[in-house]
Amino acid sequence: MPDINTSNINRLVKLLSEAQNIAIVTHMRPDGDAIGSSMALHHFLTAQGKKSTVVLPHRDPASIDFLIDEESRNSVAIHEDEAERAEAALLDADLIFCLDFNAFHRTDKLEAPLAGSKAKKVLIDHHLNPARECFDLVFSKTDVSSASELLFHVLMALPGVDADAGKLPAKSGEALMTGMTTDTNNFGNSVYPSTLQMASSLLGAGVDRDRIISLIYNRFNENRLRLMGHMMKDLLTITPDGVAYIVLDRRTQLEYNVSEGDTEGFVNMPLSIEKVKMSILLKEDEGKVRVSVRSKKGTSANRCAGKYFNGGGHENAAGGRLSIPGDLDSISQAAEYIEKHTHTFMTEENEN
Ligand code: 5GP
Ligand code: MN
Repeated sequence: MPDINTSNINRLVKLLSEAQNIAIVTHMRPDGDAIGSSMALHHFLTAQGKKSTVVLPHRDPASIDFLIDEESRNSVAIHEDEAERAEAALLDADLIFCLDFNAFHRTDKLEAPLAGSKAKKVLIDHHLNPARECFDLVFSKTDVSSASELLFHVLMALPGVDADAGKLPAKSGEALMTGMTTDTNNFGNSVYPSTLQMASSLLGAGVDRDRIISLIYNRFNENRLRLMGHMMKDLLTITPDGVAYIVLDRRTQLEYNVSEGDTEGFVNMPLSIEKVKMSILLKEDEGKVRVSVRSKKGTSANRCAGKYFNGGGHENAAGGRLSIPGDLDSISQAAEYIEKHTHTFMTEENEN
């Protein structure tokens, strides 16, 4: 088990005992780990008799909508749909849990209410370089698979749970398993001994993993697979430096009726090619391009995202954005931007 600082656990127990009105917030465009960890904590707090509201900057993607069950929908405030309610949930809270992000700006429009809220703030996160000064209590580890895994270990350390996963609400266990599974691409990356311990404990506690795998991976529409074929066959470029990139413009997204979450995982696929060291997916959005970066060991996706895409993340999985206008005049300049900057980047990486 990873080392969870006992004095931090004691401080958490005290904060929880004093809290009446708890908010749980996660990063913009939330993924399986973001929503999985948030819902797991929500179910845990609810079982403890605490009022908690999950505040999401954007809607949950259809591909993982099972994480928010019918009964819990009322306890979720989505800023994209109900800005006032979402902001009030943060401003009225006396304790806020921040899950799966390292700095307030990662919550998009929730940044200001989060910074303005007088609530005590607890961070539970696995990204590099957390903004520690913004939080009252920090649980930050990068040698875990996911925020869901780190939350699991924190919950296990709480008195009353006593390291027994069977004492977690069933819905918490399922949500934690889901978040860990999506962030590791189903045990394909970022797996540590503690990750397998978590999986083992949750399976032992009765979590139905087969059901979760079916819900995550076997519920897409036909368009998604056809789009994947088109992207890998017609849109993929590999530079002489071993950088694979795909530019997915708005027109193609409309043609294939792409919804949020549909391209999840596609950026990893070019890494299956031996000569590819880094893979970049650029997705055109209103006024910007969303960028996902994945790399093999020896090349830093985090550094590349930080230097050229106004972002960051983990060593081998990061993200960022390019603004239009600003970094680019239009999406048609994206390929040129990538070719130029990744050449500089890969040359520097090879020198180091
Ligand atoms: P994705 O490509 O799936 O959007 O993001 C990959 C990883 O990088 C995720 O863990 C995500 O939280 C992180 N990430 C994405 N965009 C940013 C960003 O702009 N800044 C930071 N610090 N992390 C990011
Ligand atoms: Mn995560």
